[in-house]
Amino acid sequence: MRRSVVIVGSGFAGLCMAIRLAEQGRDDFVVLEKADTLGGTWRDNTYPGCACDVQSHLYSFSFAPNPNWTRMFARQEEIRAYLEDLADRYRLRDRIRYGVTVTGAEYDAESGGWTVHTERSASGTSIDTAGGETIDCRFVVWGTGALHEPSVPEIDGLERFDGTVFHSAHWDHGHDLTGEKVAVIGTGASAIQFVPPVAERAAELTLFQRTPPWILPKVDRPISAAERWAFRAFPALQRLYRAAIYARLEARVVGFRNPALMAGLELLAKLHIRRAVADPELRRALTPDYTLGCKRVLISNDYYPALTRDNVNVVTDGIVRVTERGVVTADGAEHEVDTIIFGTGFKVADAFAQLAIVGRDGVKLTDAWRDGAEAHLGTTVAGFPNLFVLVGPNTGLSHSSMVYMIESQVAYVLDCLDLLDRRGARALDTRPERQAAYNAELREKLAGGVWQRGGCRSWYLDENGVNRTLWPDFTFRFRGRTRHADPADLVLTP
Ligand code: NAP
Repeated sequence: MRRSVVIVGSGFAGLCMAIRLAEQGRDDFVVLEKADTLGGTWRDNTYPGCACDVQSHLYSFSFAPNPNWTRMFARQEEIRAYLEDLADRYRLRDRIRYGVTVTGAEYDAESGGWTVHTERSASGTSIDTAGGETIDCRFVVWGTGALHEPSVPEIDGLERFDGTVFHSAHWDHGHDLTGEKVAVIGTGASAIQFVPPVAERAAELTLFQRTPPWILPKVDRPISAAERWAFRAFPALQRLYRAAIYARLEARVVGFRNPALMAGLELLAKLHIRRAVADPELRRALTPDYTLGCKRVLISNDYYPALTRDNVNVVTDGIVRVTERGVVTADGAEHEVDTIIFGTGFKVADAFAQLAIVGRDGVKLTDAWRDGAEAHLGTTVAGFPNLFVLVGPNTGLSHSSMVYMIESQVAYVLDCLDLLDRRGARALDTRPERQAAYNAELREKLAGGVWQRGGCRSWYLDENGVNRTLWPDFTFRFRGRTRHADPADLVLTP
């Protein structure tokens, strides 16, 4: 089957690409989705308390504002419903083929197109029978993001554990935690959201903390019916509201780029601990010793109070092994539990490792990225013509909405397609020297930032300490650079 565009993934990125292509009358595309429903991370992460830590009015598409958000920070169900609604509004339902996992893709220089290999997903349903086929296309848009492969640490003896084990991204809703002894491993963005509701249900919760996160108060509240009415009646008001949130979050870049400026926020975060936690020993354990911003800054009002409950115990000794009955820590203590929940994040560096993507001259993407993932404007990769990666290397944010970055990248992809049409060219590749110069510039900007200098070890950095995840600048600068495809960056094949 030949298509013009194959989009992989139906989260925010894949849907944005699909909507924009359809709007431009470039209708010849298909979205391939490994699961049975759309939504990406907002479909997969269903743990109790799951919500976005970016304000909903900004964490949504500028071209599809939702005046009906019920909270400042929407919960997972509401964001997922927003994405489902978009699929209806933009008539994407029959453009998405579910239960299809993309296993790889090869570029064919002769035709200037790609052959995409798929297989039926384990979770695939009879909604579609397309799995197992190959699809020829001109362009591939990879929209899977990097936070979808759960990371479960290899802990000695884990396979021997007699109880229940699951990861926060694969929450076992069939398993009732009521009255159980529960171990939670990890204290990142996910864990701090599900620890409070789990603590309410469990008889005992033992929280294994390796590094305490910096946590600021969450300025959350319901959005009243009157406000929602006003946003519906006066769309300009909602745009203004969104712009105000955008400006406030953007200002944070100054602090991330100048770690010394983080002292004020650290003070606020310490007061936040002090207000909730009376026990000085627990306070000490919860206070980070690195600069705020080095790891993702979290927001919560219920996490610290949950840790002061009688049934919650914070353990800071390292985990050495798991036995049939529980978790053993470096001090020799065995913490008996019924269930272990991993809130240990995702395999960011391996996001593309399983895929056989073969570009020009038979070069594999895994080989091109042997020393680390690198792209031009986070979107195109030299040697891989007509391939676009959304939420690619160095497009992540620690200060604002990824949806804004996705929209910027999608605009860039569309401009590349326009450029090809205007020049009557078949394929577009990135000049390696332009990609190298762009990445050298990124490295320089990142070097002075808190992510590099803050004295912590985070998933923002790869095993060599190189930051290949974050955009280190204002997002409007990224938007400016992705507004138009610069022919000087590209090689066009007639
Ligand atoms: P994460 O931020 O990577 O946190 C993982 C946690 O597990 C950390 O506390 C880490 O400790 C701990 N850990 C990892 N391996 C361990 C081991 N072997 N032993 C003990 N502890 C271990 O993962 P996440 O909380 O799932 O969040 C991942 C990302 O998803 C976030 O940064 C964010 O971008 C996104 N997210 C966003 C939202 C949102 O509201 N927008 C919500 C949830 C997640 P160390 O710190 O010591 O490594």
